[in-house]
Amino acid sequence: YRAIVENQVFKSHNAFNRKANMPVGNVTTVCQLYDDHREVSRQLNRKRTEQGAAGDRVRQIHDAQERKLAIEEAKALKGDVQALEKRLDDIDSSLLSLALLIPNDTHPDTPIGPEASAAVLSTRGPPLLPASPARDHMQVGRALGLLDLESASTVTGSSWYYLQNEGALLEIALVNYALSIAIKHGFKPVLTPDVVKSDVAYRCGFQPRDPDGAAQNYHLERVGSEPELVLAGTAEIPLAGLFASKVYDERDMPIKVVGVGKAFRAEAGARGADTRGLYRVHQFTKVELFAVTVPESSDSMMEEIAGVQKDIFDGLGFPYRVLDMPTEELGASAYRKYDMEAWMPGRGRWGEISSTSNCTDYQSRRLHARYRPLAPLASEPQQAAHQPALPFVHTLNGTAAAIPRLIVAILENGARFQGNTVVGLNLPAVLRPYWLGVPPNEAA
Ligand code: AMP
Repeated sequence: YRAIVENQVFKSHNAFNRKANMPVGNVTTVCQLYDDHREVSRQLNRKRTEQGAAGDRVRQIHDAQERKLAIEEAKALKGDVQALEKRLDDIDSSLLSLALLIPNDTHPDTPIGPEASAAVLSTRGPPLLPASPARDHMQVGRALGLLDLESASTVTGSSWYYLQNEGALLEIALVNYALSIAIKHGFKPVLTPDVVKSDVAYRCGFQPRDPDGAAQNYHLERVGSEPELVLAGTAEIPLAGLFASKVYDERDMPIKVVGVGKAFRAEAGARGADTRGLYRVHQFTKVELFAVTVPESSDSMMEEIAGVQKDIFDGLGFPYRVLDMPTEELGASAYRKYDMEAWMPGRGRWGEISSTSNCTDYQSRRLHARYRPLAPLASEPQQAAHQPALPFVHTLNGTAAAIPRLIVAILENGARFQGNTVVGLNLPAVLRPYWLGVPPNEAA
């Protein structure tokens, strides 16, 4: 955490504008604890030196009386050392738990404030259809026999679902379509484990459990408690973990991967319109873009990832917009975040379909992911004898396809009606090459 504290706290004035993981006042407490840590470490080192010298004296003295005094002095010093070690341990754990709550620094262009302060960067696709409850994805999906939430509610619970018939084929086609575009843009495919150690999730900036103990993730109960495992809320975690404790050559960067995984979300506290149908569910398939860059290239990689996403969503033929998300909407790890929202006429509003974050060195510091620069590193003059530490990489992630949200957007924008009756679905032409069997001839 030295890396976290030294490099984040002192530039984290920007963190005051953020909400995620950030009880106000934390930064000053962390700085105070950090100073205490340094001071107590110094005292401890001094006492240990004194203790060593006292031990030497005990060995050298032969006079019984003097030896007794020296032994007592050594014993007292041992007690002091133990007390300081205990104090350092306590400071250590308070410091670590508070430091982990400090979010990343913030991009200077990020709008400051709550969700309403998001800046719309662009709006793309066809004109908006008027809002209409008849286009609600649940109604369209049920009419076409694409989904079944009732059976899932019996089998698992609410906010779980079956996709069936063309609904199931739609998911498969969307995954393969998104994957193929990502691969065309140079992202290497990876299938990830969907179960991760909660420690790795913390290192990526997620909190599998809130400080008050509420679970944000599904925790796996196992015989023997270590290490604690959780169902991944996003493939970002196993993808970031792929780079943990490794050193990359600058000449091999950037590294771009695309993962396909199941995302599991406890969605504790989620209520209201958002939990209707497929919009906010507990399990969904997600195609995830992940990149590792040198620090100077992470801003441009963010634009590259947004470009891949636009390529994917442009093809699907619904209106969507790109937002530069404001400070209070940034997760702990994000330095900057772009969300994309599709127009969902059945819901009568825009709905988030993807999110892209530049996490700069927030995750790499915690995961120990470094790189070896092409140019030799200049060492500090006073440290000329030491090898300078290798710099940390930057990490970025972005949603290529969050399947249920794409299905909502496709059903609500693409439903075909005769009078008030849903009679079919305009299947985006780009999905045809990825359709298993004979593509429905415009009708699902
Ligand atoms: P996140 O990793 O939270 O940024 O989510 C990535 C994308 O997944 C979001 O932009 C949404 O499109 C989608 N998403 C997030 N949570 C859910 C959920 N509970 N159910 C369905 N889709 C979701």
